[in-house]
Amino acid sequence: MTETYYNYINGEWVASATGELYKSINPADTEEVLGLFQQSNEDDVELAIAASESAFGEWTDTPAPKRGNVLFKLIQLLEEQKEELAELITKEVGKSLREARGEVNKTIEAMKQFSGEATRLNGETAPSQNNNILGYTIREPLGVVGVIAPYNFPLGIGIWKIAPAIIAGNTVVFKPASNTSLISVKIMELFEQAGVPAGVINMVTGPGSAVGGAIGNHPKIQAVSFTGSTDVGLALGKAVTARGAKMQAEMGGKNPAIILEDADIDQAIESIVISGFLDNGQRCTGTSRLIVPRTIAKEVTEKLVKRAERLVVGEGFGENVDSGPVVDQNQLNTYLHYVDISLKEGAKLESGGKRLTDNGMDKGYFVAPTVFSNVTKDMTIFHEEIFGPVIAIIEVDTYEEALELANDSEFGLSSTIYTNDLKKAFHFVRKIESGVTHVNMPSTYFENQFPFGGKKASSMGPREQGSTALDFWTDYKTVYINP
Ligand code: NAD
Repeated sequence: MTETYYNYINGEWVASATGELYKSINPADTEEVLGLFQQSNEDDVELAIAASESAFGEWTDTPAPKRGNVLFKLIQLLEEQKEELAELITKEVGKSLREARGEVNKTIEAMKQFSGEATRLNGETAPSQNNNILGYTIREPLGVVGVIAPYNFPLGIGIWKIAPAIIAGNTVVFKPASNTSLISVKIMELFEQAGVPAGVINMVTGPGSAVGGAIGNHPKIQAVSFTGSTDVGLALGKAVTARGAKMQAEMGGKNPAIILEDADIDQAIESIVISGFLDNGQRCTGTSRLIVPRTIAKEVTEKLVKRAERLVVGEGFGENVDSGPVVDQNQLNTYLHYVDISLKEGAKLESGGKRLTDNGMDKGYFVAPTVFSNVTKDMTIFHEEIFGPVIAIIEVDTYEEALELANDSEFGLSSTIYTNDLKKAFHFVRKIESGVTHVNMPSTYFENQFPFGGKKASSMGPREQGSTALDFWTDYKTVYINP
C-alpha cells in the first residue's frame, strides 16, 4: 500500500483542498511508487502564507543567536541520519550512493557555516557629523519569503536556502520539485525535530506553475529564492521584481572547460569525467563544453572516451556505481533529443548517445555517458543546456580563440582551465565570464563558505552561500539617535 504524504502548514500535515494526488517514483525502477503527494493549488499557498504571517512576529522577536541554535540541532540530526538520508536521495533521484553521501556532507558543511552566521548578523556604525548623534545600521528580516527548489540537490538546496532565511528571522513557504517530494517531507521533519516553531517553515507540494507561480505572484511574499531552469527563473523573476519584491535565482549553465597543451592531460581527463558525467551531468556547474587545441584534440578525445566507457552506470545503490539513472522521463527525452539533434547537425558521436536497457536497466531511465567531437559554435549543443551526461568537444587553434568560445554563451555559471602556465591561468580567471571559476579543478567543485552564483542568464540577485547569503535575506535599517 503506497503511503500518502501531506503539505506541512503551521506545524501540521494537511491535505490539499483539491483532493488530488501525484506520485513520486524510483527512477531506477519506474514501477516502484515511493509515495503519493498533494497536488496543491493557489488556495493551499494562501494557507501556507497565512501560517507564515502569523508565525513571523514571535520568530522575528527571537534573538538571532537563539534562532541559530536550531541549526546546531539540525547538524546533529543530519549527522545521525546521514546514511538514511543518502539512501533516500539515491532512491528518489537515482544519484549514486557515493554522490548522495557527498550531498549530505555538503549540507552539513553548509549548516555549520550558517549556524554561526546567526551571531554575525552585523550592522555597522560610522562617525557622525555631530558628536551627539549615534548613527548605525541593523539588519532586519524581510517577512514571509518563498523558496522554490529543483530536483538535482534535493536535500542540499532546500535546506541551504531555508536555513539562512529563517536564521535571518524570516518565515518561509517552501515549494520543492515534484520528483523529490519524499525527500522534501523529510526536510520538514528534520526542521521540526530541530525545534523550528510551527508556521516558521511551511511546505506546499504540487505543480510548478500553480504552486510556484502563486508564491511568486503573492503580494505578501517579500522575496523569492529560486533554483532551477533559466526560462522558469527569468519569468518568475520578472513577476516578483515587478511588484517590488526581492528575487534570487540560480539557473542554468553551459559550462566550458579549456585544456591547454601544457596541461597534465590525464589529470584533466579525470577531473572532466567528474564534472561532466557524475550525477549524469545533472549539475548546474557540470562541464558540458570541452575546448581543446587542435594539436591535442585526438589525444584528449581518445582518453576521454576510454575513461567514459569505464564508468559504471547502474542502480545507485551498487557501491561501485558511478552514475545512476537520470531523474525522469522528461530528462531522458531531453537527453535523447539532444543526441539526435547533434547527429543531425553534424557532430561526431565518439561514445554513448543511447538509453541503456541491458541487465534490467530497461526498468529505469539509464543513459550512457556521451562524447561528441567536431562540435562547432553554430550547433545547438554548443549553446543549450542539456542537464545530461553529454560533453561536446570543440577544437581551436589558439588560447585566445578558446577563451572567446568559452565566453560565447548566454550562460555564465562555472568554468575551468587546465594549464601549468600561471600567466594564462590568471588571464583566464580575469576574462572568463562566469560567477565561479577554477584552475586545474572540476567545474563542479564548491565549498559552502564561499559565495555561489553566476553571471549573465545563470543568476539573478545576490549570491547564495558563504558570508553573502544573509544579504539576500535581510534589509538594512539605518538608525540615528540623539540621546
Ligand atoms: P525547473 O525549472 O523545472 O524547476 C525548478 C523548480 O521550479 C521546481 O520546484 C518546479 O516545480 C518549479 N517551477 C516550475 N515551473 C514554475 C513556474 N512557472 N513558476 C514557479 N515555479 C516553477 O528545474 P529542474 O528541472 O528542477 O532543475 C534543473 C535546472 O535547475 C537546470 O536548468 C539546472 O541548471 C538548474 N540548477 C541550477 C543551479 C544553480 O545553482 N545555478 C543548481 C541546481 C540546478
